Amino acid sequence: MNNVPAAPEVAQQQTAGIVSAAAAGQPALIRIARANMLRAIYRECFAVDRDALPAPRAVRFDPRGSALQLDFDTPVQAQAWAGRLGGLRSARNWAMVGATGYHAVVVWRGVLVDLVAVVPAAVEHRHVGGAGGAPGECSAECACGVTFDGFDTIAEASALLDDHIAKATGVQTSAVPA
Ligand SMILES: [Zn+2]
Repeated sequence: MNNVPAAPEVAQQQTAGIVSAAAAGQPALIRIARANMLRAIYRECFAVDRDALPAPRAVRFDPRGSALQLDFDTPVQAQAWAGRLGGLRSARNWAMVGATGYHAVVVWRGVLVDLVAVVPAAVEHRHVGGAGGAPGECSAECACGVTFDGFDTIAEASALLDDHIAKATGVQTSAVPA
């Protein structure tokens, strides 16, 4: 037979164990504040009386309090939250080597919330390898697949690679020691 109900005394013992272990020493103030925010996020994702918002990829609380960061897969998703919570004025799109992103800040239910999306660039340019050896056999390789081969020293190949990376990304990289 399956699903036999636990005897009352067993059920009681289990409940007592769960209650005492539940917070594992975490202050009730933090536990409840965070749980309330998680519930508020949950409700937005399951909203039926208005457009449901996309579920964040990660929910990260500040270690000291209840300030919160929501990570999203795309800027459009983060923007949907910023639009709902009134954070569009603080929003900015940013770009740097290897990634673009979106960031907005809102105060939601009294809590400072960062809405973040980071999109890695499809093509990466960085020094990933190469080979040393006899003159004419030294090379340096970029993550994008470009290889500078047939040089007398690694330094020569690396210098050209650095130049390639600088042109491709608009950022000067530090020279690789030969
Ligand atoms: Zn490259």
